[in-house]
Amino acid sequence: MTLFAAVELAPRDPILGLNEQFAADTHPAKVNLGVGVYFDDAGKLPLLACVKAAEAAMTEAAKPRGYLPIDGIAAYDKAVQGLVFGADSAVLKAGRVATVQAIGGTGGLKVGADFLKKLNPTAKVLISDPSWENHRALFTNAGFEVGTYAYYDADNRGVKFDALLADLDAAAAGTVVVLHACCHNPTGYDITPTQWDQVIATVKAKGLVPFLDMAYQGFGDGIAEDGAVVQQFLANGVDSFFVATSFSKSFSLYGERVGALSVVCADADEQKRVLSQLKIAIRTNYSNPPTHGAQMVATVLDTPALRAQWEEELAGMRVRIKQMRTLLVEKLAAAGVKTDFSFITRQRGMFSYSGLSKAQMERLRAEFGVYGVDSGRICVAALNSKNIDHVVAAIAAVV
Ligand code: PLP
Repeated sequence: MTLFAAVELAPRDPILGLNEQFAADTHPAKVNLGVGVYFDDAGKLPLLACVKAAEAAMTEAAKPRGYLPIDGIAAYDKAVQGLVFGADSAVLKAGRVATVQAIGGTGGLKVGADFLKKLNPTAKVLISDPSWENHRALFTNAGFEVGTYAYYDADNRGVKFDALLADLDAAAAGTVVVLHACCHNPTGYDITPTQWDQVIATVKAKGLVPFLDMAYQGFGDGIAEDGAVVQQFLANGVDSFFVATSFSKSFSLYGERVGALSVVCADADEQKRVLSQLKIAIRTNYSNPPTHGAQMVATVLDTPALRAQWEEELAGMRVRIKQMRTLLVEKLAAAGVKTDFSFITRQRGMFSYSGLSKAQMERLRAEFGVYGVDSGRICVAALNSKNIDHVVAAIAAVV
């Protein structure tokens, strides 16, 4: 009997499995809409000009690669705070926010999860139904029991808001509630500012712990618009909450693993203590973060010309996705599809819950080489002017 004889083969990541299947597919017009990345109209992963410029400047002034502080590059953490809370925010001036650089948004979630587990070992975690699949796995792996709150309303193409509120209302005090700040993954449906007010009121009344996941800031309506929910939490006097930030999509820096965790505290003294504990979570997981990606992002955010360029490039991505949404709906109608797909233009971010069934998604793959997730999720950010007609023809054939 060897040491690993009883080790079971873990199930394949469903999306990576799709990618492998896609790579092996010989269909001449195959399209991968299963991915969670933004491609430009040429079907390429963009390297943003602002990133290229920042990287060139860094190469020019190349520095030795010492260890970073446990909480990362100070200028980076400050730039993240400015972006998430607003540079002139009272909460920053009061020194109430503990921000640490993290290994992507995932790293920010994990550091927060580890910190919360130590703080309140018996707390439960609620994620939306459905949610980004890793939310469940990550919080489960951090030792939490993970449940769901109602979210997707398949019949009415939107959010089951009353059920959502009722689920939050029924949660025990101290329950951690993971909320998508904008551009809900996978459905594409966000709640309205008025509905956020109701969520915030419930969170406060029930003593829940809000954990905002902001992986798509700038992909919905704009940087400030998508970040407005953070301002709503502050304006409503929520004095302790978490925000995980990811720059994977907004800087097209997926593999550089650039993210952060910010924890809003009641006062500066609390902030010091919380920061010290976040550092322990980091130190005992991976000691300290990597240098390159965060330095690029800090350089872009802190250099006015590069920042302006980034905002323009991000707007370009946002606008292109919206154009693809509109085009998809128009072309489906023009192809004679009777189903009303106009809901696709009401969704935000990179994804659309298309409403297509598992059987229809299987047919799209098998007969047309069009790859989406079995749940019906398609990545609108992978559509382009060249592949959209094939996708439309394929959908028209299966509905
Ligand atoms: N949170 C959500 C909702 C996501 O969709 C993703 C990535 O797909 C992440 C977090 C993780 O981002 P990162 O790649 O920066 O770890």
